[in-house]
Amino acid sequence: MPVHSEPAVEPRILLVEDEPGLVLTLADRLASEGYAVETATDGEQALAKASQGGFDLIILDVMLPRLSGFEVCRRLRHAGIETPILMLTARGQVVDKVVGLKTGADDYVTKPFDMMELLARIEALLRRAPARSARPAEQYRFAGVEVDFRRAEVLKNGRPVNLSAREFALLRYLIEHRGAAVSREELLEKVWGYEPGTTTRTVDVHIAWLRQKLEENPKYPQFILTVRGLGYKFAG
Ligand code: CA
Repeated sequence: MPVHSEPAVEPRILLVEDEPGLVLTLADRLASEGYAVETATDGEQALAKASQGGFDLIILDVMLPRLSGFEVCRRLRHAGIETPILMLTARGQVVDKVVGLKTGADDYVTKPFDMMELLARIEALLRRAPARSARPAEQYRFAGVEVDFRRAEVLKNGRPVNLSAREFALLRYLIEHRGAAVSREELLEKVWGYEPGTTTRTVDVHIAWLRQKLEENPKYPQFILTVRGLGYKFAG
């Protein structure tokens, strides 16, 4: 056995599946293979968790309550989230396979699948994924605020700040585009994926919440700035 000087980092997998039995079996097996596993049991939950980032791979069932796996995949890619996606399709869903890959999935496995085959595909996808060091910064600091993108955690003056998945995704987008003015429409598209029922007002409300939670004086924000007639800008 080779001796590694660095502690091994467990790849993080988001498992999206609504059959309780399969969730249990798969989560167990993946954990025993050395993966850190988080689960989601419907499409909306999947979207919220995956949008926070920090996963190395998403295993995504097609038939899910609320949003189908295809729709989840499409929205994630639309929002610029590049986490590799392995789709679980039902036997005979030939068309679905094609659509799955067109939607932005990286690979698929047909149910019922052989566990060894699934594990091999997971390994292959993780190998293909860009090295961690080539990824965007995993942490970002401004004033007394520390943002940990991998863990989806925010600290203000050393204390945890409770952000919703959407607030976190919004903050992430602003930080990734810091210094640039981003329009409300762009935020609606990239952070909300043009979800039905959302308007530019939705963006304003979330910006106000973020300021409330992160700015020293939310009335006179120093970081999450308004750009008149356009939208917002992160000045960190
Ligand atoms: Ca299912």
